[in-house]
Amino acid sequence: MKYVSTRGQTASLGFCDAVATGLAPDGGLYLPETLPQFTASDLACFAPLGYAELCFEFLKLFATDIPPVTLHEIINRSYTKFAHPDIAPIVKLDDRTSVLELFHGPTLAFKDFALQLLGNLYEHQCAVRHQTINVLGATSGDTGSAAIHGLLGKPGTAIFILYPDGRTSPLQERQMACTGAHNVYALAVDGSFDDAQAALKDIFADQTFRTHHRLSAVNSINLARVLAQCVYYLYAYLRLPAATRNETEFVVPTGNFGNVLAGWMLQKMGVPIHSFKVATNQNDILHRLFTTGDYRVSSVVPSLAPSMDIQVSSNFERFLYLSVGRDAAKVREVMNTFKTTGGYKFANFNRDTFSASRCTDAEIPGIIKSVYGRYGYIVDPHTACGFVDLSKDRPSLVLATASPAKFPDTIISAIGIEPKDPSLEALKARPLKKHLIKAEPAAIRAFIDKHAV
Ligand SMILES: *Cc1c(COP(=O)(O)O)cnc(C)c1O
Repeated sequence: MKYVSTRGQTASLGFCDAVATGLAPDGGLYLPETLPQFTASDLACFAPLGYAELCFEFLKLFATDIPPVTLHEIINRSYTKFAHPDIAPIVKLDDRTSVLELFHGPTLAFKDFALQLLGNLYEHQCAVRHQTINVLGATSGDTGSAAIHGLLGKPGTAIFILYPDGRTSPLQERQMACTGAHNVYALAVDGSFDDAQAALKDIFADQTFRTHHRLSAVNSINLARVLAQCVYYLYAYLRLPAATRNETEFVVPTGNFGNVLAGWMLQKMGVPIHSFKVATNQNDILHRLFTTGDYRVSSVVPSLAPSMDIQVSSNFERFLYLSVGRDAAKVREVMNTFKTTGGYKFANFNRDTFSASRCTDAEIPGIIKSVYGRYGYIVDPHTACGFVDLSKDRPSLVLATASPAKFPDTIISAIGIEPKDPSLEALKARPLKKHLIKAEPAAIRAFIDKHAV
């Protein structure tokens, strides 16, 4: 399988190279040249498989430049640190409402599904190329910790994660700074997330430095992340009751559009998922897009669901490319207009099977309370956004993107109960090792020079 850029001005690459490259040189995102099509008999063969086996059957169609035996082994290892035997269990709340729990990985958020795998793919690449790799990222919370736990202790790798000192939640900081791993550097930046991000951009723009350290970015646009996420949609579809699975709407708390895009791509591969609801928080660029056809930035307002606090949904570009029939010139036109004017108004926006909802901070605690009152089930603030406007016409499967134990303050204020998870409790007892650093590219470069592998 070859991978092409959504901007159409870059040569296609194999899977390993597309994963290693991240953002395409023409500014686009990589997508498979064709989408495989699954038939009803393929789905029947997939139905009895456990999570890792299903993941292998799916990914072997895409990672065609990794020997199958090796790929199988990489995938098996990637799902051993999940605390639930089903990996992605479905919890039925009532006849019309179920939850797909995606938070049983090591950092208790859905990003583990992709980043556990990506960490092992990086390790594999280091081994076959006889090279080391240094990963650098900036985070306001979940991505940083999931990336760290994907690379924890891996030979030939080091990971540097910048985060604004004192502005992530204490538990999120502990997930980054209490690992004890020799190759993990939690860099607490003296400044805001934007300062950290600006420093990061500056460092990645320095080609000499970048090449010298074989610096790789961790971000939500990596092709492997999207493909890894397709698998839990397939797994969930196959586990829904046969009578309702083709009628069920998948409701997805959304920020960068990475999670829900994966489900939609799976639908385009012939898996008959009925529809998707894009559930945003008060940062509602996607809600506005799907209801009015106007894609327009506005400023980010911090919310109780911080991992969905985004200004621009980078993975939207992949949806756009596929939904305009792979017309890269159209993608370039939209993205250039968006970049220069801050928006793009679609004349005939094709929303396909998507609908959208929006949930403000004023609503989140009330939703947590009402879901708890009705079902005795605790949802985290991101998942709560999914419950704001469930369909009256059909069953809903809400994707639970994080464990409530990661957000104890919001849960306590909503229902007076402190949700706990044993892995977080264990972290509280471990020493915190963070490196305070100025939000200046020179200081960060010097740190990397000293600690890179
Ligand atoms: C990252 C994240 C999201 C948003 O996912 P996208 O792929 O950016 O749409 C939602 N909930 C949680 C808990 C997250 O960590």
